[in-house]
Amino acid sequence: MQAASLIHDEREQDHLVRLAAGLGEQSTSPANLERLAARAAAGQDPHARFGPNGLEAAIAEVGAALTVPAARAREFIEAGSVLRHQLPFIGATLGAGRIDLPRFLAVVRRTALCTPEKLDLLDKIIAADIETREPMSMVRFLVMIDKHIATHDPAATRRRRELVDSERNISVRPDRHTPGQSRIGGSLPAEQAAAVDARLTAMAAAVHADDPRTAAQRRADALVGLAHGANALDCRCETCTSDPDAGGIDADPATVAAPSDTARSDGSPDATESPCAPRPTFHIVVNLSSLLGLDDDPAFLDGQGILDADTARRLVAGARRTYIRPDVVAEPRRIDRYAPSKMLADQVRAGELCCSFPGCNNRAFHTDVDHDIPFAQGGPTNPRNLKPLCRFHHRIKTFAVGWRDYHDPLGEVFFQSPAGHTYLGNAFTGRDVFGSLTRTGRPPDDAARQRIDTVRARRAASIKRADQRAMDRWNAENPPPF
Ligand SMILES: [Zn+2]
Ligand SMILES: [Zn+2]
Repeated sequence: MQAASLIHDEREQDHLVRLAAGLGEQSTSPANLERLAARAAAGQDPHARFGPNGLEAAIAEVGAALTVPAARAREFIEAGSVLRHQLPFIGATLGAGRIDLPRFLAVVRRTALCTPEKLDLLDKIIAADIETREPMSMVRFLVMIDKHIATHDPAATRRRRELVDSERNISVRPDRHTPGQSRIGGSLPAEQAAAVDARLTAMAAAVHADDPRTAAQRRADALVGLAHGANALDCRCETCTSDPDAGGIDADPATVAAPSDTARSDGSPDATESPCAPRPTFHIVVNLSSLLGLDDDPAFLDGQGILDADTARRLVAGARRTYIRPDVVAEPRRIDRYAPSKMLADQVRAGELCCSFPGCNNRAFHTDVDHDIPFAQGGPTNPRNLKPLCRFHHRIKTFAVGWRDYHDPLGEVFFQSPAGHTYLGNAFTGRDVFGSLTRTGRPPDDAARQRIDTVRARRAASIKRADQRAMDRWNAENPPPF
């Protein structure tokens, strides 16, 4: 990427020199060249008007050298320029292999709206975080980047928000490869996309278990249903389709939402849905202080990433809430049941951001909460023995031979593979985003912590005594004037 950027530097110079030659100019100082380029273009020089500029010339060369399309070559040149001039420290972590190319390009794109001074600061902060942490999954990495941007350059986060709002779109196009099939795509602000996603999932789930369709098919049917103005999916199980009086899912009392519940659905302030519509649910983690407007710390939208405080406040205003209080949850009397309480499960999930298996990006609030040491073997139901695992990794851990997992005394989750490698499951977690979720470090009864506490207390006491002696000496040598 540095080479691509350097070629671009050269080709820009060549381009300007050629324009100067065309105008019979000898001086090729940078300031003069820019002026000449403008003059050449105004004077209808076909080279200046239609010819490739320095960037285009470089794109062609880089594309040929790497056998990549023009768009990819352009990306390398631009990223190379950012690497050389704006994010040299993060570039160094790429060079050292601490991050890979997709992660570096993600940083380049996500910091694109930051001002140069903020870029300087973010470059150092993010590079330091990359250097000091174990490798992390892509979702955790993006949350880390966005958290730093939201914290240190809130103006950039607001600009990003406006851009994201203005770029919303949905497209429907014929599929190039499959006749008779079309593709639906598009971009939405994350919380709106989450609302659509949650609505489709809720509609797809609110049919009887023996509905013959797959979950994916039911989600598709739900979207088409919405287009037709329906807010619930017709069940296609044998009972519902053979008996016209069964009346679809409404006949099952378990799937009818209580009327009092429907006005407040998690994350959706919309109070107009009919009592029979399945309730869509998505999850937002936000500091209480931000909710109260005392600060603008970023929030986390499960499955999507960092969310700005304004949007989080708006969404949570109409949502059902769980207040997480790590100090209360850790109470020992709560640990002797197998199933964690909702508050404990929420704390475990919020503290991890996603499935805690290394590299996994599956959303935390769709995972199982797993005991490291099984409950049946005496494993307690508390945060130090619980972690979120998606269904796939839960099955791997439970049934595959040779996987081990444990929390260390600091509360970090580790996984050991059948080959004997040890992986940190959670190099960047919810506890890095939300300081109030931070575990209190070593448990109070930890031997090392007790030792350090004793040493500190002793040192503090001796300093105090020395201070007192110095004060006494000074008083003795300087008696008050009376
Ligand atoms: Zn049915
Ligand atoms: Zn997983």
